[in-house]
Order: sequence, then structure tokens, then C-alpha cells
Amino acid sequence: MKAMVAVKRVVDYNVKVRVRSDNTAVDTANVKMSMNPFDEIAIEEAVRLKEKGVVTEIIAVSCGVTQCQETLRTAMAIGADRAIFVESQEDLQPLAVAKLLKALADKEQPGLVLLGKQAIDDDCNQTGQMLAALADWPQVTCASKIEVQGPDKANITREIDGGLETLQVSLPAVVTADLRLNEPRYVTLPNIMKAKKKPLEVIKPQDLGVDVTPRIKTLRVDDPPKRAAGVKVADVAALLDKLKNEAKVI
Ligand code: AMP
Repeated sequence: MKAMVAVKRVVDYNVKVRVRSDNTAVDTANVKMSMNPFDEIAIEEAVRLKEKGVVTEIIAVSCGVTQCQETLRTAMAIGADRAIFVESQEDLQPLAVAKLLKALADKEQPGLVLLGKQAIDDDCNQTGQMLAALADWPQVTCASKIEVQGPDKANITREIDGGLETLQVSLPAVVTADLRLNEPRYVTLPNIMKAKKKPLEVIKPQDLGVDVTPRIKTLRVDDPPKRAAGVKVADVAALLDKLKNEAKVI
């Protein structure tokens, strides 16, 4: 069974993002970019399934600007066998990415498509769900455990409010990875070197017959409001008074 894993290049989670002065977007010039953390978990899970002999081949896919190829090389250093880069300068919104992944799934016929539960830049949490709808495949979001039971079934656990929920799906299926699914391995230098030699196919949305024109227009992007300066209170009585009458929290 093949596994296809979608990896997005996002602003590194350690970077404090700034809004561009024209308020059109977040400033990504000269900012460290990395693989979306949930996608790293998705790749790691595919590699573990391959190590268990469940998955035979892992295909990493990324859609976007040229530098996404670096993200794909990282995915291959973690253990993906090959990569497909869908090159586009367009602002790729979740529906467009879902359509591209659907077209690639039609071509590659994976048993599992793994994605992150959400991209930490847009926080959309939509792409996996849209892909499942377009492909008419079962989906499990926010997976914390994946157990493949033969060629056409998997039991997948998700963390929900009341505890753990285990669902059985038929394969092929779409699964999105949550934080506690696994802890991704460190990428070693020999594996980075090996990844440079793995196949990376470059295609365009037109090659897949997909129109990626944005459907949603961003009106403006603003910084969150600055926190107001704190005040010192004289004693506990004054603190209680403020909590009760100003903040109204007690
Ligand atoms: P989102 O719906 O934007 O929160 O993204 C959810 C997941 O979809 C991500 O964690 C990725 O696995 C995948 N994804 C979103 N955008 C892209 C992209 N441009 N290239 C590859 N995968 C993507």
C-alpha cells in the first residue's frame, strides 16, 4: 500500500510573525520557513508504517513556491521515498490544495493520504476534510493512533473531550495527524545526503487539470491588539475589588 503525505512550508513556529506595513499579509521576507509541524508528524507516521511493513512506498507532496522543494527534501530525509512538487505562485487556498491532492491521489492510488490537522500559518483545518469530500473517501481528523488492519481497513484513534475515540475506516482514507500521534525523529546528516538523490517530480496545477484561482479574498491583516500596561494594587482588598468590579471575574 502506498501512502501519500501532504507537507506545507510555513513560517517556522519559533518566529514571531509581523504584519506587512500595507496590512495585506504576514511578512514572510527573510523569515525562517519550515515544514508545518503537524505534517512532520504525518511523515513520521508514514515512515513508521513503512518500517512495520504496512506501507510500501511514501510519496511526499507539497504545493506552492519553488522553496517548497526544500520542505520535500526534509520529508525525504525523514523517510519519504519520492516527492511531487506542484509549483504555483498563486495564493493556494485549502480548496485548491485539496483539488490538487485529489488529482494526485487519482494518479497514485494511495491506500492512505496523511495530512497535518492544520497548517499553523492559516489555521484553516480544512484541506484534509475537503480532500475526503472530493474523493468521496472516509476521513479521520486529529488522529493520535493509526493501526492498519490488512489491506482495506484501519482503526484510528482520536483524542476527544471525553477521552479516546477509536474509529474503523475502510481504505483508501484520509487521515489528519494530531500532536500526540508520534514524536518525529531527528533528521540525520547521512539521511539529508541520501534525500538529495531521491526523485522529485515538478509539475504545475495545469498538468493536473486543476484551477487554483483563489475563491476567498483577504481584506486586511492586522496585528493583535497590544496588551495594556499593568497596574500595581495596594493590597489584597484592592485586588479583590478590581477583580470583582472592573474585571468582573469573581
Ligand atoms: P489547512 O487546511 O490549511 O489548515 O492545512 C491542513 C493540512 O493540509 C496541512 O497540515 C498539510 O498537510 C496540508 N496542506 C495545506 N496546504 C498545503 C500545501 N500548500 N502543500 C501541501 N500540503 C498542504
